[in-house]
Amino acid sequence: MTALVYLEQTDGAVDEPSLQAATMASSLGGGAEVHAIVAADTAALAPAGQLPVDAVQVAVHEAFGSYAPLAVAEAVVELAGRLGATCVVGPGTERGNEVLAHVAALLDLPLAANCVAVADARVTRVRWGGSLLEEARVDAPTLLLTVQPHAVAAEPGAGDPPSVETFTPTLSEAALALRVVERVAAATGGVSLADARVVVSGGRGAGSEEGFAPIEELAELLEAAVGCSRAVTMAGWRPHTDQVGQTGTKIAPEIYIACGISGATQHMAGCKGAKRILAINADREAPILQSADYAVIGDLHEVVPAISAAIRAARSG
Ligand SMILES: Cc1cc2nc3c(=O)[nH]c(=O)nc-3n(C[C@H](O)[C@H](O)[C@H](O)COP(=O)(O)OP(=O)(O)OC[C@H]3O[C@@H](n4cnc5c(N)ncnc54)[C@H](O)[C@@H]3O)c2cc1C
Repeated sequence: MTALVYLEQTDGAVDEPSLQAATMASSLGGGAEVHAIVAADTAALAPAGQLPVDAVQVAVHEAFGSYAPLAVAEAVVELAGRLGATCVVGPGTERGNEVLAHVAALLDLPLAANCVAVADARVTRVRWGGSLLEEARVDAPTLLLTVQPHAVAAEPGAGDPPSVETFTPTLSEAALALRVVERVAAATGGVSLADARVVVSGGRGAGSEEGFAPIEELAELLEAAVGCSRAVTMAGWRPHTDQVGQTGTKIAPEIYIACGISGATQHMAGCKGAKRILAINADREAPILQSADYAVIGDLHEVVPAISAAIRAARSG
């Protein structure tokens, strides 16, 4: 049996979630031989040092100078076919999941994403934003899976460093068309949502893009980051980088101030790391009140400016 693990790396160093994926791949039973694939625009970016794999193959192509998920997937499929791999593993990061999803589509096979354990074809994986673990048997000739970050501890690998070889993958025109061509820094006002000690978020209850003005004002006073729900990003009132939740950013502030947010499971999956939650909501039956430590029942367009005014008054007095 041969397993192939896709590794993401930055400047020649393999990222931690990829090391964890390699560790899980190396723990597969049956004496599996584990090969790793990295994609780079130059062979000089081959990973160095100990890895828990037997061999590393560097897919070298100029397209890999930026993120090109379908092209990487084609390289993975090409190598998996050449090796006769019966298992292809990737990190359960956004990019790892995207690349493996393309691999699954190319091979027309199922993908078990965000696995925390695997034995033979049985996987245990995280579902519903971490609120349940699913056990499943994958019925496919090649097991495709990604490893939930931090589900296993990364181990460097014992013995000699793996052999390193390079190859030039054959990539389709369509794959080359799908790549990152520009990076634009998000306008976060200096406070990163993921690291903020205080987050003030608005939901559909804000009513409009302009309805975020009092939320932004309170956030500025508290040196907080502004967040929002998916209803807000779907309406185009805020960018996706502001979204908190299962398909947004996971946050862990000292206090999370949720204004006009109902508290759907997918939203709460992103803020369950908050130490305290203050909910401001017009509806005293809103689900978020079950998770909130504090609540103000009322119209956020009155409550939020009143909190800002009280903070200003306290600071000036
Ligand atoms: C696969 C999937 C992934 C998803 N991922 C995410 C995610 O990452 N993040 C996310 O947020 N959602 C996510 N969702 C969507 C989620 O299910 C909810 O639809 C969404 O969170 C609802 O947003 P909301 O609370 O702003 O809106 P609503 O549910 O419409 O709630 C609006 C709230 O505002 C209150 N309100 C209205 N007016 C006022 C006022 N004037 N003052 C005070 N309160 C007021 C209402 O009482 C209500 O509680 C996902 C859904 C799916 C299916």
